[in-house]
Amino acid sequence: MASKYGSKTRKSANSASTSTTTSSKKYLETSAECQTSPASSSVRSKNHHQYFYSESPPVETEKLKENVTVTVRFRPLSPKEIRQGEEIAWYADGETVVRSEHNPSIAYAYDRVFGPTTTTRHVYDVAAQHVVNGAMEGINGTIFAYGVTSSGKTHTMHGDQRSPGIIPLAVKDAFSIIQETPSREFLLRVSYIEIYNEVVNDLLNPAGQNLRIREDHQGVFVEGVKEEVVLSPAHALSLIAAGEEHRHVGSTNFNLLSSRSHTIFTLTIESSPCGENSEGEAVNLSQLHLIDLAGSESSKAETTGVRRKEGAYINKSLLTLGTVISKLTEGRSTHIPYRDSKLTRLLQSSLSGHGRVSLICTVTPASSNTEETHNTLKFAHRAKCIEIQAAQNK
Ligand code: ADP
Ligand code: MG
Repeated sequence: MASKYGSKTRKSANSASTSTTTSSKKYLETSAECQTSPASSSVRSKNHHQYFYSESPPVETEKLKENVTVTVRFRPLSPKEIRQGEEIAWYADGETVVRSEHNPSIAYAYDRVFGPTTTTRHVYDVAAQHVVNGAMEGINGTIFAYGVTSSGKTHTMHGDQRSPGIIPLAVKDAFSIIQETPSREFLLRVSYIEIYNEVVNDLLNPAGQNLRIREDHQGVFVEGVKEEVVLSPAHALSLIAAGEEHRHVGSTNFNLLSSRSHTIFTLTIESSPCGENSEGEAVNLSQLHLIDLAGSESSKAETTGVRRKEGAYINKSLLTLGTVISKLTEGRSTHIPYRDSKLTRLLQSSLSGHGRVSLICTVTPASSNTEETHNTLKFAHRAKCIEIQAAQNK
C-alpha cells in the first residue's frame, strides 16, 4: 500500500475509462411511452403484509451491471408507525416493480426493488459493489441515496454498528481489493464535503467554508478541499466521524437540519503497476463519490423564510440531478445541465464519460407518506425510464 506518489498535485480523476459498454437500448425503445405515464400491467393478488414482514431471506438476485442503475429500497414500518396503525400504501411487487396498494394500476419499474427485509449488505452487493470495483480499476463512480427525510438514506449510506452502510462496506472492499492486487500500488485519499444552500463546506477542515468549484483542463474540482491519505478502513471511517462534527447543522435540531444538506464522501484512488517492467504503463486515477442527499420532501408547507430558501435550493439541485441522470440514461449527446447546481457541477467529471452511477431511492411503505413516496417513485422513474414488461422479463 506504500505509495510512490509523494506529491499531492491534483490530477484529473476523469480518467480514460475502459468500462465495458453496457446497453440500455432495451429501455430506450420504450422511453417515449413511459415518460408520459406510469406503466401498468396485470395485478397479482398477494397478501402484502405477509410479503412485507416475511422473515425469509431475499431471493438471490443478479448483480446490476449497467453504467447507470436506479433502484428503490423500502424501509420497514417503524414500531411507532405500527403502533399508530399505519397502513401499507406501496409495496414491492417482485424484484423490479413498485405498486400502489390503493390503486394497483399505478406501478413503476426499476432496475431493482429492495423490500423492507432486505439487508444493506444485499443492497450493496447488487447496487454498489460494481461501482466500487470499477473505481478501483480507474472508472469513476457515484452512488446516491435519494429520498425524503426518515426514508432511510443515512441508514443506507452510513448505517450503524449492527448494519454497516454502503460507505463503510465500500471502504472495506477498497482495502480488500488493494490486498488482493499485489501487482499494483495504490494511494487512497478521502475528502468529505457538505453542500448547504448551494455553499460548499469542507467537513474535514472547519476553516474550509464556501469553497469554489473550479475547472481546468483536467476536469472539475473543489478548490482547496482537504484531502487526507488513508491507510486503513478504520482511518477512513474515523475521518467521517470527525467530519460529522463539522456539519453546518446546529446541535439543537440535528435531525431536521442534517436533512437540509447534501454530504459527499469522496475516495480518490490512484494506482500504478509495480515491478521493473511497469515503466510507461498507465496510472489509473478515479474518484468514488458516496452521497447522502438532502431530504427530497416538498417545501410548499414551509412557513419561515430560512426553510423556504433551503427548500428552494434543495429542490433545484435535486431536480437538476434528476435531469442529468435521465439524460445520461437516455444516452443522448444533448446538452446536460451540469452547471445548474453545485451538486451536479462538482460531479460533472465523474458523471460524464463512462462513469458508473447508482441511484438508490429510499422510501417508506407508510400510508401517511403516500404522496411523498409517490414523488420519489416518479423521480426515480424519470431518472431511468424502465417499462414494466421489460423489467419483468429481464
Ligand atoms: P434519512 O437519512 O432518510 O432521514 P434514516 O436513515 O435516518 O433516514 O432512517 C430513519 C429511521 O429509520 C432510522 O431510525 C433508521 O435506523 C430506520 N431505518 C431506515 N431504513 C431502514 C431499514 N432499511 N431497515 C431498518 N431500519 C431502517
Ligand atoms: Mg439522514
